[in-house]
Amino acid sequence: FVLSLANPHPSHRTRNNHRSMKFSRWADRILHEQGIINLMKDLGNATERSNMPLCMLGGGNPAHIPELEQYFRDQMQKVMQSESRFEQLIGDYAGPQGLYEFSEALAKLLQKNFGWDIGSENIAVANGSQMAFTILFRLFSGPYSANDRKQILLPMTPEYIGYNEADEVAPRFRSLKPKIVEISQNTFKYEVNFNELEMTDQVGAICVSRPTNPTGNMVTDKEMEHLAALAKNHQVPLIVDGAYGLPFPNIVYSDQPTVTWDQNTILVLSLSKLGLPGTRTGIIVARPQVIELFTCANAIMTLASGNFGSVLTLNAVKSGELLELSKNVIQPYYKRQMDHVVDVIHSRFQDLPYMLHVSEGAFFVWLWFPDLPISDEQLYQRLKQKNVYVVPGSYFFPGLKEQWKHRFECIRISYAGSKDSIARGLDIIAGEVRSVFLKRNQETTV
Ligand code: PLP
Repeated sequence: FVLSLANPHPSHRTRNNHRSMKFSRWADRILHEQGIINLMKDLGNATERSNMPLCMLGGGNPAHIPELEQYFRDQMQKVMQSESRFEQLIGDYAGPQGLYEFSEALAKLLQKNFGWDIGSENIAVANGSQMAFTILFRLFSGPYSANDRKQILLPMTPEYIGYNEADEVAPRFRSLKPKIVEISQNTFKYEVNFNELEMTDQVGAICVSRPTNPTGNMVTDKEMEHLAALAKNHQVPLIVDGAYGLPFPNIVYSDQPTVTWDQNTILVLSLSKLGLPGTRTGIIVARPQVIELFTCANAIMTLASGNFGSVLTLNAVKSGELLELSKNVIQPYYKRQMDHVVDVIHSRFQDLPYMLHVSEGAFFVWLWFPDLPISDEQLYQRLKQKNVYVVPGSYFFPGLKEQWKHRFECIRISYAGSKDSIARGLDIIAGEVRSVFLKRNQETTV
């Protein structure tokens, strides 16, 4: 869920006023996601108001980085000028595994730079990585046989909002609470709580986003090794969501984490956070058996993968510029944004009880207000009245069944926008949080 719906469509009540229709149970399931759908609509409909400028700190949209946009503008011009590329782009279906030329070029790039033993048979292109997850989760959860039903294990929440349950009746995920490790007076880091992590026959796959949306946490190399070993021992795959991470777009700030791949890993990548969300291009790197199954499912569900992302980035993949741009343009851009947002937070919130998750990657900060007197959702509503949009933290616990107060004490803030707007938004957030704590303190002293 990208959490930003551009061009909201107005509803024309009189024209569309027909008798009600009946819908399936799946439609029912979708409507149960009302909270998150309303939130997405809110974020999509947010606009400048005359008396209150908009501070959009809620979306998942990547930044518009001028250097990158110029690069892809030039690439597009090359496509337009070439003999037949444009015609191929608009006029030919790719297969359901995506354009062969793209998969082959990417396999070579990954072989050369990371030493992975892969070829085009290990790569498939999806219409966005969200679609890739929908298919992968179906391949590895749900009924396996009459008495065998499996789930996807999310070893650590908070985790990506888009690992949703919307198409199943039985719970698709089993999720765990993290360990909270205090790093300094006002910073902390979540770690996988391996003491609680029990591998059972009901686990069909393990899945983790790295860096994690919403927290900016970079699951450590050691944790990854541990998860990979658990997965391998139980003969289930480890699905790694690298939408923000390695090898590209490389929005990672912690010291030299590594990215590994083997036949038991399913690495899911995306061109979105590179700056190309409109191309809807996701990439799966996996053993051929998984790629084949994905390809069948993709053919059934979407017929073919779109050409646009593959054609637009083909030169960048062939030349290796994709990795260079990630390292030299995208990563430094977000690092500057992150340094700024962290400075602003420590200066504006210093008189408040707050904890900031260490920012090791992606473009979000995760703020925890221990003992917050109102819920994250109420805080969201109050901020919305001031035209400041964040994402309430409680949405980021897919599959967590346990009651946990912490869940309602956090918010996610995107720092992909302008520094001015981020600083203004944080001022307003600090003001609101201060006022709810003050009110509670007054009530308890009366
Ligand atoms: N994974 C994570 C962690 C994300 O944050 C997102 C989008 O916000 C996605 C996957 C899906 O991205 P897309 O479908 O644009 O590739």
